[in-house]
Amino acid sequence: MIKKTISDVGSDGLQGRTVIVRADLNVPLDNGSISDDQRIRASLPTLQTLTDAGARVILLSHLGRPKGQVDPAYSLAPVAVRLNELLDPPVHFVPHTHGTAAAGALEDIGNGEIAILENTRFEAGETANAPELSRSWAALGDMFVNDAFGTAHRAHASTAGLADAIRAKGGEAVAGLLMATELEFLEEALRVPERPFVAIIGGAKISSKIGVISALLPRVDRLLIGGAMANTFFRALGLDTGDSLVEEDSIGVARDLLATGGDRLVLPVDCAVAKEMVEDAQRRAVDRTGVQPGEKILDVGPRTRVLFVDVVRGAKTIVWNGPMGVFEIDSFAEGTMDIAHAVADACDAGAMVILGGGDSAAAAERADVVDRLTHVSTGGGASLELLAGAELPGVNALTDRSG
Ligand code: ADP
Ligand code: MG
Repeated sequence: MIKKTISDVGSDGLQGRTVIVRADLNVPLDNGSISDDQRIRASLPTLQTLTDAGARVILLSHLGRPKGQVDPAYSLAPVAVRLNELLDPPVHFVPHTHGTAAAGALEDIGNGEIAILENTRFEAGETANAPELSRSWAALGDMFVNDAFGTAHRAHASTAGLADAIRAKGGEAVAGLLMATELEFLEEALRVPERPFVAIIGGAKISSKIGVISALLPRVDRLLIGGAMANTFFRALGLDTGDSLVEEDSIGVARDLLATGGDRLVLPVDCAVAKEMVEDAQRRAVDRTGVQPGEKILDVGPRTRVLFVDVVRGAKTIVWNGPMGVFEIDSFAEGTMDIAHAVADACDAGAMVILGGGDSAAAAERADVVDRLTHVSTGGGASLELLAGAELPGVNALTDRSG
């Protein structure tokens, strides 16, 4: 780990300090109540560690896309309530984003306590990475902890900007425990992968994952392609895909990847097709050469499932990002469920399995295999960027371990 973490700082270095923490508490809300608190739970270890050490914690996060203005629908108040239920130390909600009102409310916060400020994206300067906004947050404390892996691929005022601002005033900006774990698995564990190294890439769009595919292709032993993005590769092979989802603009890129990938790039050999993307659709299995006009490819076919599972079972390092089909509909979930079980079996047998992507994580949950996997990343865009070999602004801005 190149960047300093709160473990490096240690509890003596945290005691009595005012620590500004940027977490990713961007949970889905349904009529004002939290429908999935996974992101809140993922932030708890850092918050608990800091308060146990006797730090005063000022917590920042964004929630949704309130477009730079105050919008009560995106208040962090429900998140504060949930945090209070999950943590022992008291969590105070401060209904201001920054400034003198926030600073005043923070005067009552003691060591070992947490104050959560209002949604950072109520400020237009947040996504614009406005330095004056970063400085106003930096003024509130003496150390910065970035634990918001999910937003680390963006340079925002409360992430990269705040790290710069705290360091400019002589403070340290360090990684939280969640951030450190994500970096450890997505960056370091994959640096020298045990072989065979297999990547499984699926999902809706090839365009959003070209970076990952191109970065992984030269490093893996096999890269299995599934999901709608396989259709674009089929078109690059000159096959008919009927009414399937295809990114016409990416057919050329798919052709290039096929040329450079050679045997390492493995496409489905057959598909499950239907005329409609609905639960009780008439479904048939067909070779990839036999898709008829009006049909949609909605899952990989039975022969492909056997082929893919076989490759996965023999792997020692596995990266999985993107479902094999429209797994939200039972009739088209088989390919994705087979992969979920196969990666969990491989993991049980000693392989390292790293899963990224919100929909893939949902699929793994549906297959009930999450607990069997080595690491399930909490950050969609950020994990894709890391796997593609890109540097993350929110990480770059942190203090180096050596200096
Ligand atoms: P992740 O969130 O894991 O990165 P993506 O967001 O890239 O995954 O893609 C997930 C979506 O892709 C799912 O909603 C799934 O229904 C859709 N999908 C997968 N295969 C197909 C297909 N053959 N046709 C249409 N949509 C598909
Ligand atoms: Mg997704």
